[in-house]
Amino acid sequence: MEDHGRMDDNHGERDVGLYEKLASRTRELLDSGRRTLDESLKKAGDELSAAGDYTREQAEKIAEYVRRDMLQVEKGARRAGEAIKKAVAPQRVSAGVKSLLARVLRSIADSVAGLAEMAEKQVEYKTGEVTSPGTLTCLACGAGMNLKATGRIPPCPKCYKTRFRKSY
Ligand SMILES: [Zn+2]
Repeated sequence: MEDHGRMDDNHGERDVGLYEKLASRTRELLDSGRRTLDESLKKAGDELSAAGDYTREQAEKIAEYVRRDMLQVEKGARRAGEAIKKAVAPQRVSAGVKSLLARVLRSIADSVAGLAEMAEKQVEYKTGEVTSPGTLTCLACGAGMNLKATGRIPPCPKCYKTRFRKSY
């Protein structure tokens, strides 16, 4: 299965490389300024395509994959935040912890456009797309598959279908 992915061509590896460059540059831009996630992603994509290694179309396609993964991570972080709030009795959480939690959740929400719609709908992942590590669950048979590194999504190892949902 792994070898199959590699035989593909070297498009897959280029896409994975671009995904990783985009993700790390976007993170730098987010950390250093007042840009939103979408603005940072766009700027990172512009820089990488201007450098000539990738076309604008490639950069835009992969930026969309990065964006989707960021939103999925945010959803997970938000749920974990809720779980933490519920699990710990209010009087036992220090004011510092509470404000840090609030700050983290707020700043993520502020940096992401379209979060509300995204949180409502089930996001679908397909074979051949590039994604970050996580667990993909086959929509056809329910089999789970763990991705340990950023890479192209293979077909379901059990039923060979190509549609998944993702969790972390
Ligand atoms: Zn399956």
